[in-house]
Amino acid sequence: MNDKYELLEPIGQGSFGVIRKIRRRHDNKLFVRKEINYGRMSEKERRQMVNEVNILNKLRHPNIVRYHERLIDHDLRTIYIIMEYCSGGDLAAVIKYYKSRNMQIPEETVWQVTSQILLALHECHEGRVVKNPVDSTESRVIILHRDLKPDNIFLDDQHNVKLGDFGLSRAMEAASEQFAQTFLGTPYYMSPVRELISGLAYNAKTDIWSLGCIIYEMCALHPPFPASNLQELNQKIQLGAVARFPTVYSRELQDFIMAMLKVNPDLRPTTAECLEHPRLRRFLQETE
Ligand code: ADP
Ligand code: MG
Repeated sequence: MNDKYELLEPIGQGSFGVIRKIRRRHDNKLFVRKEINYGRMSEKERRQMVNEVNILNKLRHPNIVRYHERLIDHDLRTIYIIMEYCSGGDLAAVIKYYKSRNMQIPEETVWQVTSQILLALHECHEGRVVKNPVDSTESRVIILHRDLKPDNIFLDDQHNVKLGDFGLSRAMEAASEQFAQTFLGTPYYMSPVRELISGLAYNAKTDIWSLGCIIYEMCALHPPFPASNLQELNQKIQLGAVARFPTVYSRELQDFIMAMLKVNPDLRPTTAECLEHPRLRRFLQETE
């Protein structure tokens, strides 16, 4: 580890260990090192973690934080994930910045950031066809982020948006109905279906809900369902009782957000449908 990279300052505290800036010695390029201590994990959690690291490795997209390699220290029972460094901080900090100065994020910026998150999410949700090596059957594996929130959307030095922190993501076969039912994530961005622990599945539309919350927050500078406790939040979410939307933004943008915040997941658009919006189509064409 220390031969190849020089350790620099810590930049965050991850759920399983410190996140640190590092410099690759041979070309001075900066990276981020996320450490995951697997010492206290169960066998199942460990398998899941390996699975997650493998997911990251497969995701290659200009709007997804690029994974570079993993290093393992068996003595410390720690996996180090080396990934692209995003020097521009995260979207939560951007929102905070505007809020503290009583300023609005320009609508054009909101559309632009939205388009980039959508392109990243589309890459995950579209998935890819994989062949079962045993019986040669094919199935489509899609990736759900499951923890979409402003703190997990990073910015690089060119103001490109990069979706990151796939810590809770799972690859799942679209064909099989094995959808996760775990209760995880940050309440503010939690969808109604995710709230219903009682067996209701969660799928790509859950990520869409969270995305709706994020775009809303870029405009209003607070989440769509402000609440002082979980019960109140829950109630508001179930009713789809969205707080008032600032009038400086277009009706078009408001409608776009509200479609994602439909309580019934079937009524929410897919990433493909979102990207067909006239305000976004041009961003899609630019990257094709
Ligand atoms: P956690 O699972 O703890 O939420 P994250 O991947 O979200 O882990 O990282 C936590 C914090 O560390 C982020 O909010 C961000 O400030 C910083 N961070 C993580 N990854 C990067 C990165 N690739 N580039 C720059 N900062 C990062
Ligand atoms: Mg995070």
